[in-house]
Amino acid sequence: MSVNPATGEVLREVECASDGDVLAAVGRARAAQVAWAELGIRRRIRVLHEFQAKLHSRKSEIADAIKLEAGKPAAEALVTEVLVVLDAARFLIDNAWRLLQDEPVPHGNLATKLKSGRLVREPHGVIGIISPWNYPFSIPATETLAALVAGNTVVLKPSELTPLVALELASLLHVAGVPEDVFQVVVGDGSAGAALVRSPIDKLVFTGSVATGKRIAAAAAERLLPVVLELGGKDPMLVLDDADVDVASSAAVWGAFVNAGQTCLSVERCYVHRSLCEKFLAACAEKAKKLRVGHGEDCETDIGPMIHERQLQIVEAHVEDARAHGARILAGGTRFPELGKNFFHPTLLADVTHDMRIMREETFGPVLPVMAFGSDDEAVNLANDSEYGLAASVWTRNRQRGERLARRIHAGIVMVNDVVSCFGISEAPHGGVKASGLGRTHGRFGLDEMVRLKYLDVDLTPAMKKVWWYGYGQSFRRQMEGFLDMQFARGLGARLRGALRAAGVVKRKQL
Ligand code: NAD
Repeated sequence: MSVNPATGEVLREVECASDGDVLAAVGRARAAQVAWAELGIRRRIRVLHEFQAKLHSRKSEIADAIKLEAGKPAAEALVTEVLVVLDAARFLIDNAWRLLQDEPVPHGNLATKLKSGRLVREPHGVIGIISPWNYPFSIPATETLAALVAGNTVVLKPSELTPLVALELASLLHVAGVPEDVFQVVVGDGSAGAALVRSPIDKLVFTGSVATGKRIAAAAAERLLPVVLELGGKDPMLVLDDADVDVASSAAVWGAFVNAGQTCLSVERCYVHRSLCEKFLAACAEKAKKLRVGHGEDCETDIGPMIHERQLQIVEAHVEDARAHGARILAGGTRFPELGKNFFHPTLLADVTHDMRIMREETFGPVLPVMAFGSDDEAVNLANDSEYGLAASVWTRNRQRGERLARRIHAGIVMVNDVVSCFGISEAPHGGVKASGLGRTHGRFGLDEMVRLKYLDVDLTPAMKKVWWYGYGQSFRRQMEGFLDMQFARGLGARLRGALRAAGVVKRKQL
C-alpha cells in the first residue's frame, strides 16, 4: 500500500511479490540478459539517451510523484532526484563506451614479454537492486542505468514505502526501449528483499540501514554473492576558526534539514570552533526558525513530513536523551501536530556530547546538534570517533588547511566548503567506509561494480614451448639463477653475467 506521508491518504494498493514471483522475475531477467548484452554498448547508450529525453519531458510529473509518495517539496525532488538522474545518464552516455572498452595490460617481467594481456569487462548477468524510500527515484535509477549500460539485466526491489516512484522509473525505461524483462520491479517489504537475495542473481546492490545491510551481508556470504552496500551515516561537519559563519550556518541548516533530515549524507553532527560557536548557533537558530514546514504540495514549503511514525519516534528519543543529558534546545524539539502526524520542527541542539545518542546513532531526522571544539586535532578526533564513515565536510577560508584536514577524516567522501552535494556529481564515487558500507556507486567506480573483470592472455609464440615447462635439472637451475640476476641484480656487470648464464635456456631439452 502506498501512502502520502503528509496526509495519510492511500495513494494506491500495490500487490506484493511472493517468493515465487521474485524467482520468476529473476528467471525472466536471466533469459533476457544474453540478447541485451549482445545489443552492444553503443545501442544501449542510445536507449539511455532516449530515457534521458523521456525523463526530461516528464520531469515535473516525476517530481510530483516523488512529492506525493516521499513527502519532499517538488522543487527539491527536481534538484536532488530528477536532475541527479538526468546527469547520471549524461555521464554514462558520454563515458560508458570508453570506460567499458578492453584495456591492454603491458607486461614488465621479461619471462612474459611474448604474451599479450588485456582486461575485458563483462556484465555480471542479473543485478538485484534493493533501495530505500528517502531518494526513491535517484538511488535506484542511477544504479540501474549503470547496470543496464554495462549489459546486465536488473530486478529492483524498491522500498515498500515508495513503490509507485519505482513503477514510474520502470515505465520511463520501458518507453525508452528497455525490454520489460531487462528491467523489472518486484514490490514488497523486507521479505521480498530477502527472497531477491536468496534468488540466483549474480550481484546485489543494496542501499539502506546498517542493520539490514549486515543481515544481507550474512545471507550473501552463504553463497558468496558479491554485494555493494550503501549504508547509513553520521556525517560530521567541521567549522574551523577561520570559516565564514554566515555561509557555514546556512550550509548546516540546509545540510541537516534537507528532505527533513532523511538523507544519508545529512549533517548529523556539527563541530564548531569555540571562538565562533555562539555566533554560529545564533545564526543557525535564526535561520531554522525561518524555515517553512509544510506539505510538499505548497511551493513555499522548505521541509516536508517525515516518512512514518517509526522514524519520528527515533528522532524524539534522540532529542529527549540529549535534553535529559544537558543539551540546550535552541529551536524546535517537538512534533508539529497542526500540520499532520508526521511533521517535526527543525531542531537545533547546543551543548551536546559524545555520551548522547544524538552524536553516536544515525538520527535521520531534522535535527542539528552542535558541539564546540578547541583545536583542529580535537575536531578530527571527534569526527573520527564514530562507527560510521560515509561523508564529512570541513569549513574554512583556507583551502590547503581544509584539504589537509579532509585527508585525516575517515570517510568515503569529504567536502571542503560544501555539504551533501557530492551525491549530485555524477563523476564522483559515492560510498562509505567502516559501518557505512562496501563498494561504490556513481561514476567510473560505480560502473566498475557492474562488470566482472576478465584477464585475457594471448601467447604470441604458439609454436614455442615455454622455457619454464618441464626439463628441470642442474643446468636449468643455473640458467634460472642467471635469468633472475639479469633482471634484478644490482650492477650492470652482474646483470650481464646473469644474461650469459641464462642464454643457454633456449637450447634446453624439454618434454
Ligand atoms: P532499510 O534498511 O529499512 O530498508 C532498505 C531496503 O531493504 C527496503 O527496500 C527494505 O524493504 C529492504 N529490506 C528490509 N529488510 C530486508 C531483508 N532482510 N532482506 C532484504 N531486504 C530487506 O532502510 P530504509 O529505512 O529504507 O532507508 C534508510 C536507511 O538507508 C538509512 O540508514 C540511510 O542512511 C540509508 N541510506 C544510505 C544511502 C547511501 O547511499 N549510503 C542512501 C540512502 C539511504
